[in-house]
Amino acid sequence: MLIVSSNKGKIKEIEAVLKDKGFDFISLGAKYTQFHVEEDGPDFCSNALIKAKAYAERYDVVALADDSGLEVDALSGRPGVESARYAGLDATDEDRVKKLLLELKDIPIEKRSARFKCCICVYDPFKKDAIFGQGVCEGKIGLSPKGSNGFGYDPVFIVEGFAGKSMAELSMQEKNTVSHRARALFELSKKIS
Ligand code: IMP
Repeated sequence: MLIVSSNKGKIKEIEAVLKDKGFDFISLGAKYTQFHVEEDGPDFCSNALIKAKAYAERYDVVALADDSGLEVDALSGRPGVESARYAGLDATDEDRVKKLLLELKDIPIEKRSARFKCCICVYDPFKKDAIFGQGVCEGKIGLSPKGSNGFGYDPVFIVEGFAGKSMAELSMQEKNTVSHRARALFELSKKIS
């Protein structure tokens, strides 16, 4: 199974959950090189399928790809599938967090509900078959960033059920039990025999 990612943390987590499913894993590198895929689907699963299918068909292997992002209720679900591009193509995590806090500056804490969503797709080019796993992590957008773990929007995402802690204040182990990606992966693993 080709894991379409170069993020070491993600790869490790995926391999750990799917280790007993009979696959050999390979990730992007010298043999299976990364190429651009236009992820222009309307939702996370469409984009995960676009990516998994593109790699599976180019390299004739079963391929796994994910797509994820943040939905904020006060912004009618934005940035959603645009989460990575929310503050422009060259923006940093800090730029995206700043823009989000600015857009929400007049919204009181009780109306800042949000969720991380993730969809993971495994595409088999021989059977022309796709399997999906989806996961959600509920929370709200804090008034300012806190914590130094994780990445992306983690410092402003207050995780439901963690006494006001941001995702960036959770340990890796804690994040891996509640995150949208962990939940999607768990659902996916149940569907792969
Ligand atoms: P991708 O699915 O890896 O392309 O992620 C899309 C974007 O969503 C990232 O660039 C982050 O900004 C955001 N995102 C996805 N997952 C997380 C997470 O676990 N924490 C914080 N931000 C995330």
